[in-house]
Amino acid sequence: MNLHNGTYYWLETLPHPPVYPRLAQDISCDILIIGAGIAGAQCAYWLRDSGLNVVLVEKNRVGSGGTSANTAFIQHAGEKMAHQLVNSFGEELAFRHLRLCKEAIDHLEQAAAQMSIDSSFARRSSLYTASQPNDVEKLEKDYKLLRDLGFAIDFLTEDEIAARYPFRRHAALYCRDDAELNPLAYTHGLIALAAGTGTHVYEQTRVTGKHYEKDAVIYRTDTGHTIRAKHVILAAGYENMRIKAEKNAMLIATYATVTTPVAESLLRQHWHERSLIWETADDYIYMRTTPDNRVIIGGLDERVYHINRNDALRLHKSEKLIQEFNKLFPGIAVQAEYAAAAYYGGTHDGLPIIGMYTDFPRCTFFDSYGDNGIVYSMVLSKIVRDVLVNGESADLDLYRQDRPLLKNKQPILV
Ligand SMILES: Cc1cc2nc3c(=O)[nH]c(=O)nc-3n(C[C@H](O)[C@H](O)[C@H](O)COP(=O)(O)OP(=O)(O)OC[C@H]3O[C@@H](n4cnc5c(N)ncnc54)[C@H](O)[C@@H]3O)c2cc1C
Repeated sequence: MNLHNGTYYWLETLPHPPVYPRLAQDISCDILIIGAGIAGAQCAYWLRDSGLNVVLVEKNRVGSGGTSANTAFIQHAGEKMAHQLVNSFGEELAFRHLRLCKEAIDHLEQAAAQMSIDSSFARRSSLYTASQPNDVEKLEKDYKLLRDLGFAIDFLTEDEIAARYPFRRHAALYCRDDAELNPLAYTHGLIALAAGTGTHVYEQTRVTGKHYEKDAVIYRTDTGHTIRAKHVILAAGYENMRIKAEKNAMLIATYATVTTPVAESLLRQHWHERSLIWETADDYIYMRTTPDNRVIIGGLDERVYHINRNDALRLHKSEKLIQEFNKLFPGIAVQAEYAAAAYYGGTHDGLPIIGMYTDFPRCTFFDSYGDNGIVYSMVLSKIVRDVLVNGESADLDLYRQDRPLLKNKQPILV
């Protein structure tokens, strides 16, 4: 299942990543994590000092899945606005979720500080603009909610935006709790930390099938060997959906382009605090900078399939992203160097999913789907660690696939 296609900037930033062996013998473990993307890496990170024997397997190379296509905005906010979450889940649960996301960004920063690999983690503010005049009221609602919850957030008027950026928007939220990172380097950094404390990591080792015995799940691999595990975390990204369809999850196609480097002085002059920029529209465009002064522009999502066969569309979308950027920042004017098309997974109700199904005993599906999947992975991986190590987590009920939480018992469809 090919989930993305094109050319990837992050791969170029880490020319000599750590290499891990293929599985060459039958092994047993307490916990098997399937998938070494940023989500599997975060699970390994939280389990690294649990005293459990942990194995992490990856069918390709570490971070070569959706993680390489990721634009790595690190934000507490996902595709549902705070007031929409309150409408769906009620104040108590929505606030708990938002606080967990805020805390997860602190955890991401703490993990980055421990790594020997430079993950380019940097605190950044987010500018979240109103795409339409009637979105201003929505931003006002979120501003009050998030300010009262303790987020460092400002409400910017049209003139205040124009004083900071070379474009006008009806209004915006400016959130000072967010961040950015290099997702491939970050994934390698986490896995190196886990490997350094005893986690066994195998690359180019695909799990191909399983059977159950009384006290374990036995997975077969394409190296001809087996892994016997007491518990399994399926962190195979969007490929989890192929193993177990989840009615709350959906896939759409999205596009991202990375430009050639631009002069740092231009970014300093035109781009207020190198903030992350996004907007309220459903078909939004978003942008950030990189440490080597490139611009990443993403968006133009659509419900089309066969992304892998449509190079012309990918290049057309890249051109469109560049045009949109150049309209906003005529003083910077960028050119595309990398262009990727990718499937991207979200959920109908806006929260990620920890899947625990009776027909998959001893297995936890780790579906950190959402446009802030990295933050969601940090939230979920700590909860899964607590469940596996301590037998419980007070926050599991918020994210389980059978969450009985929706006030009106009906997921809100996008
Ligand atoms: C274009 C794009 C932009 C995005 N931007 C952002 C953003 O700005 N901020 C954000 O937080 N999130 C963003 N996301 C979401 C984010 O990319 C995902 O949440 C995250 O990368 C998913 O990581 P993952 O580890 O779950 O999946 P993946 O990175 O896909 O990792 C899953 C791994 O499992 C492996 N695997 C699958 N099957 C098997 C098997 N049978 N055996 C062994 N290994 C297997 C795969 O090879 C893969 O490496 C974006 C996504 C896309 C596509």
